[in-house]
Amino acid sequence: MKQTLTVLGATGSIGQSTLDVVARHPDRFTVYALTGASQWQRLADQCRQFKPRYAVLADPIHAASLREALAGTDTEVLSGEDALAQVASAHEVDTVMAAIVGAAGLLPNLAAARAGKKILLANKESLVMAGDLFMRAVQEQGAQLLPIDSEHNAIFQCLPPGFTDTAHAGVSSIVLTASGGPFRGWGRAALDAVTPDQACAHPNWSMGRKISVDSASLMNKGLELIEACWLFGLRPDQVEVVVHPQSIIHSMVRYQDGSVLAQMGNPDMRTPIAHALAWPERIGSGVADLDFLTLGSLDFEAPDLDAFPCLALAFEAAKGGSASTCLNAANEVAVDAFLDQRLGFNDIARLNADVMTRLAGPVARSVEEVLAQDQEARALANQWLRHGNLSGSK
Ligand code: NAD
Ligand code: MG
Repeated sequence: MKQTLTVLGATGSIGQSTLDVVARHPDRFTVYALTGASQWQRLADQCRQFKPRYAVLADPIHAASLREALAGTDTEVLSGEDALAQVASAHEVDTVMAAIVGAAGLLPNLAAARAGKKILLANKESLVMAGDLFMRAVQEQGAQLLPIDSEHNAIFQCLPPGFTDTAHAGVSSIVLTASGGPFRGWGRAALDAVTPDQACAHPNWSMGRKISVDSASLMNKGLELIEACWLFGLRPDQVEVVVHPQSIIHSMVRYQDGSVLAQMGNPDMRTPIAHALAWPERIGSGVADLDFLTLGSLDFEAPDLDAFPCLALAFEAAKGGSASTCLNAANEVAVDAFLDQRLGFNDIARLNADVMTRLAGPVARSVEEVLAQDQEARALANQWLRHGNLSGSK
């Protein structure tokens, strides 16, 4: 039987890679819904190709343009947050690709979890901001989480089949590999003047702008560390981060007997996407075979926490409470401001540290509490942007 998919964030980098894999296997997949924020022309093209039942745009004005473009087709156009949750939880849907960027992914992802769907999780921010609630919803409703983030997908592949509870698998730690981003080897002083375009020019991966900046600041590895703790039931001290500039080993699992299992491949997100789409089977992804003879060497080095303090902040936030919710919200505001050239690169970490330290408290017990913590952190981050620090604010 065909797998019926909703692709949240279809117009983005992960969404487009997902549809590339789906198009290679018309016998396996049908598309129920595709969603985007405002890029209605791209979504219109995708709808003509994949003929989903629904297309959803977060923005109602662009949704009107999309409706016009798709007039006469079988695709119905919806808009708004509730519609995202609706297509993520509809009973016709088997699998939801969760590829919205940032906190905007939380409610649709939670709707999918509460409806017991198979969730292919790219949107790490929803676990960072609400890991406790999200994992509980997954467990209570029998949803299935398959990681798309290449590191977590690698770890999933290196664990015993179908295993996500590391406590009983003889795992001693996991090793998250990091490319080091475009500024690997740079000192803090040199990072003061870097531009958004420099930060977004990732040496190995082609990605959306937010995650590209996070990769440049190593915040992405920090978010991934928190994501790994939730996905695999680990304490932060069981997660090691190693810089591996070639991005060929996507992460590793260390076992108590001294074995280390690694997953390798060319750096192309279609590999983890195809893995999760077909799991436990394997299908073609369009990714070129890894050629060991032209690879050269695989190098490893320690991350520079002085130049990239966001990673240290995430280790702190991973200890629990609301710190990771606050850190995620502050970072989204900071990255937006950096991309708009309203904030320097090194100020991203300063803003994040100040907001997290000021606000961190107990973990939220409801979605409403998570959203309130998120809003409070965004308000404080915006205040930081106005004054260049938090001194003087209460
Ligand atoms: P992107 O910016 O290319 O795409 C983001 C998608 O989310 C787009 O479809 C956009 O329309 C949609 N979106 C943005 N704001 C929205 C809103 N308010 N409401 C509804 N939809 C909204 O980002 P990306 O690189 O594809 O990343 C998506 C997610 O996957 C992120 O959480 C990222 O951390 C994660 N991820 C990406 C990669 C990668 O290689 N790109 C790798 C690992 C994890
Ligand atoms: Mg990753």
